[in-house]
Amino acid sequence: MIDTHHLELMMGRDWRGDLPPVCLECGYDLTGCVSDRCPECGIYFSRRELAEFINNLKLELRVLRSVNDWIKTGFWLGSIALACLLLGWTAGRLWAPLLTPIIRVFACLFAFPAFCLSLSVLRILRLPAWSRQWMSVPVRYELALCAALFSLLAGAGAFLLP
Ligand SMILES: [Zn+2]
Repeated sequence: MIDTHHLELMMGRDWRGDLPPVCLECGYDLTGCVSDRCPECGIYFSRRELAEFINNLKLELRVLRSVNDWIKTGFWLGSIALACLLLGWTAGRLWAPLLTPIIRVFACLFAFPAFCLSLSVLRILRLPAWSRQWMSVPVRYELALCAALFSLLAGAGAFLLP
């Protein structure tokens, strides 16, 4: 019979941290589990694979702590792109026709990184659903959506506006 302390040593001391060992299939917390079978969904697991997966997941979660910063930057760049395009386009139509092509280039320069930054939410959607509860911050999905929308509008407008 293996005691809990021994098991914790087998699973690695790392797991005393923020992310416990969990079943890769259902997300059940396997802390203190003595068999190689998940008591919740019945799937068999290898401790080595589990440890590797959890460690990768921890790294990814650590990186994703900054995800809201990326999204916010994307949102502001997208807003600048859109404002730049609309103001520049209006000014170009009314007073300075030469301004319009320059403004289009600027709008694209801001829209492209904004769109890429808004796509960082895809990294979160790629995580297993049960693991998202271990994210340290609630993700600003609505802001990412705005960033994607603004940058797409600005990019499309730069090409399609007369
Ligand atoms: Zn399970």
